[in-house]
Amino acid sequence: MAPHSTSPPPPSLSTTSAKPLIEPSLPQSEPCLSWWHQTTRAFPYLNANNDKPVPSSTKYLIIGSGISGALTAYTLVHDYNVPGDEIVILEAREAVSGASGRNAGHVRPDAFRGFQGYEALHGAEQALKIIANEKLVFEKIDAFVKQHEVPCDFHPTTTFDVCLTEEFAKYEKDSFDAYVRAGGDVSHIKYFEGEEARQRTRVSGAVAAYEWPAGSSHPAKLAQWLLSKSINRGVQLYTHCPAIETTSATPQLSSWATRTPRGTITSPKIIHCTNAYASILLPQLSSFLTPNKAQAHALIPDSAFSGANTLSSTMSLRYSIRHFYSLIQRQSDGTMILGVSRSNPELSASTKSEIVSFNDTAFNSEIVEDALRQFDKMLPPPAPSSKPTTHRHGESLAHAWTGIIGMTPDNTPLVGAIPELPGQYICAASTAMGWRGSGLVRRGWSS
Ligand SMILES: Cc1cc2nc3c(=O)[nH]c(=O)nc-3n(C[C@H](O)[C@H](O)[C@H](O)COP(=O)(O)OP(=O)(O)OC[C@H]3O[C@@H](n4cnc5c(N)ncnc54)[C@H](O)[C@@H]3O)c2cc1C
Repeated sequence: MAPHSTSPPPPSLSTTSAKPLIEPSLPQSEPCLSWWHQTTRAFPYLNANNDKPVPSSTKYLIIGSGISGALTAYTLVHDYNVPGDEIVILEAREAVSGASGRNAGHVRPDAFRGFQGYEALHGAEQALKIIANEKLVFEKIDAFVKQHEVPCDFHPTTTFDVCLTEEFAKYEKDSFDAYVRAGGDVSHIKYFEGEEARQRTRVSGAVAAYEWPAGSSHPAKLAQWLLSKSINRGVQLYTHCPAIETTSATPQLSSWATRTPRGTITSPKIIHCTNAYASILLPQLSSFLTPNKAQAHALIPDSAFSGANTLSSTMSLRYSIRHFYSLIQRQSDGTMILGVSRSNPELSASTKSEIVSFNDTAFNSEIVEDALRQFDKMLPPPAPSSKPTTHRHGESLAHAWTGIIGMTPDNTPLVGAIPELPGQYICAASTAMGWRGSGLVRRGWSS
């Protein structure tokens, strides 16, 4: 890939001098389809403008069409009255082909669990703000979806943090106590232990469980709706059109030239919504922003989780802080989405070694086996059933897929202006609500 050639390189952009774990990359060209992709193949803008040259200039250039890029365009048009025809979105692949179209569907704020970790990294005041922000983001999504009647299968409900070991129950309790001591609001959190935790969650090995408001959605439909509403107001989306390089178009850094395979587009403002891929255009981030591969599964439930037995709450099922499973059950069709963390001590070394990767072209069958085995272990058929866990044709695994998460060492996203590159902004490694406990917080670029 051609290097970023802004001249001279702004020294304070170096966020760390550590060696990158992986060289920056554009999104891979043949990604697998997620279940969310499979169920939205008729989205009319999926391959918008895929053979047209890009315009020579625009006022706002958004790079990336995931939830960050789609919401940026929507907000500029609908909240800041920017004329749609002043905005161009570049997308390397199909619309919403990154993490926003391949996640686990949870809309799940961290209610307290991440507090201790954030406090250690950012201090108690910031940690309190991060957790408060998680709740606020969920409430805002809930309000937004209701106000605009967004058809994204949004299901506001509650979620359980299910502790599967005594050690993790202690970790959760310590986090909860630390959060309370620091003045955190826990009025919306319920706590259950022992038999009551097992009955409420239906998880046979639950040691303890915490419950608070959260939800689930069809993430691709949400981002596609935002794109549609923006395109209807004149925003131009160019799919299959990667931004390869961004250089200064003027000595004063007042305009930027972005090269693509279908021409160069200049713009005074660029918003990088490229998530795990941001460092291909901003190589200064390459040792700070790391792509992590994650895997999710769509399961068609058997009778234990169908009809009146459908789960109404979502769950995070945790053996430890890094070894966990996330589960939602869609209320519209009963499909269950099971996300799996890679930090599972039982996985082979070769599977673990795939974590740092830009490769979202295929799934890992060892992780599928683990996911299905763990599902049956954690959520066995309700007693007194002595039925062996066999499935009818059409039940159990329907699909498995991978996606790439943008991770930062301090577990907070990069959101805001890039001071050294006037007119350029970034929103990356964000909105992983409940997945790794981060929230959408504003962070100074060089802080
Ligand atoms: C398996 C998995 C499960 C997850 N589960 C959850 C969950 O349950 N709940 C939750 O809140 N979060 C979850 N996440 C995280 C969540 O999906 C992301 O935090 C969120 O989607 C990020 O949105 P984004 O728009 O910033 O990035 P993305 O959706 O990744 O969008 C970035 C876009 O930029 C495009 N792009 C990149 N580089 C270029 C370039 N140079 N030129 C043009 N286009 C480019 C990409 O193709 C992509 O479409 C999960 C992620 C994964 C992978």
